[in-house]
Amino acid sequence: MKYWDAIIIGGGMIGLSTAYYLTKKGKKVIVLEKEGLGSGSSGRCIGGIRQQFSTPCSIKLAIKSVELFSLMKEEFGFSVEFEKSGYLFLAFTEEEKEKFLKAIKLQKSFGLKVNFMGRKEVKKLIPEIEDEGIIGGAYSPEDGQAYPFYVLKGLALGISKGGEIRKRTKVVGIIQEGGRAKGAELEGGEKIYSDVVVNAAGPWAGEVGKMAGLSLPFYPERHEAFITTRCKRMSLPMIVDYRKDGCYFQQRSNGQIIGCYTPEPRVPGRRIDSTFQFLKEMSFRMARVIPALSEAQVLRQWAGAYTMTPDGSPIVDETDLEGFYVGSGMSGHGFMLGPGVGWALANKITEGTWGLDMREFSAGRSFKNSELLK
Ligand SMILES: Cc1cc2nc3c(=O)[nH]c(=O)nc-3n(C[C@H](O)[C@H](O)[C@H](O)COP(=O)(O)OP(=O)(O)OC[C@H]3O[C@@H](n4cnc5c(N)ncnc54)[C@H](O)[C@@H]3O)c2cc1C
Repeated sequence: MKYWDAIIIGGGMIGLSTAYYLTKKGKKVIVLEKEGLGSGSSGRCIGGIRQQFSTPCSIKLAIKSVELFSLMKEEFGFSVEFEKSGYLFLAFTEEEKEKFLKAIKLQKSFGLKVNFMGRKEVKKLIPEIEDEGIIGGAYSPEDGQAYPFYVLKGLALGISKGGEIRKRTKVVGIIQEGGRAKGAELEGGEKIYSDVVVNAAGPWAGEVGKMAGLSLPFYPERHEAFITTRCKRMSLPMIVDYRKDGCYFQQRSNGQIIGCYTPEPRVPGRRIDSTFQFLKEMSFRMARVIPALSEAQVLRQWAGAYTMTPDGSPIVDETDLEGFYVGSGMSGHGFMLGPGVGWALANKITEGTWGLDMREFSAGRSFKNSELLK
């Protein structure tokens, strides 16, 4: 009977990162993915990477992730199109400005080069912006983006050097013995054994948690996105317009604009159908901020799920079932936080310590302190 150092459930950003950093530490891991790699949320995200958060652990985890993204080209041997193209959170009210200023104070204490810009500076940064109503924005030139499919590919190639990835392989049960995880049972009855099992099942992490007898407070929400054909290069950072009818979008290095918005009211569930309403609304909202984009042509639209938690921060923790770990509830930030989460889980599994302060992500927290920059 083959015995693995770790079983990772889920072939998305979190599962692959965890498996990758475990492989780098010389561990033999197996990734079990019920469909294809990136078929969950990770192949549906828009590739934004930021460090502007409002709580210490999230900021530090994001800084670690950026450090790891910047090493990928060298580690993978090809570019993942990681670039520091910036993030700009627009403020339309004094209340928003105050919220950003408070977060900036904390972010700066961790060494981030983030600043609040006035309206004129915003216009100078992005001459194409319609600045009416904007009172300023929180700008970090060191945030940016990467291409999710290249990142997933690099992680998967790295894992295959020491471990195994099994696609179209669904986990239906967690093998347990005397209060500890011992492996995973697959659809069809096959059993795979390890003393370490990681639940990185994204929007399905609640169901996988139940297999281990755990009740985890995850709930999926549908989010839609689109990408345009190549547009004139404007060097747009990720522009985040937090108004109720706002949106967020950025320009990729090849000129394409990629973006989405958070629907109000929220749309619960894991449906991945696209709507005409999104296509129409998103085009309008984006062109309201950058009028030149009213000429943009949409190439493709899609939808995917955010796995939410009650406070908008992930759960990355060990659990009451010994040897069973969870890394999910990324609340819309799992691509950008993925490398840091995988790295920290790999540390915890192999050395017993996270390597970072992960207390904000514990499964047993109160969930009362909400992340302000969701
Ligand atoms: C439209 C959109 C835009 C986004 N934009 C961004 C962004 O700009 N930046 C950012 O950081 N994040 C973004 N996100 C969020 C990001 O995509 C997620 O947080 C991240 O992909 C979560 O990764 P994951 O590995 O936890 O989940 P997933 O990628 O969903 O991976 C989980 C995997 O587990 C598999 N699985 C589930 N159950 C089982 C089982 N029983 N057996 C075997 N396999 C199983 C699934 O098939 C799936 O592939 C966006 C999301 C959406 C939908």
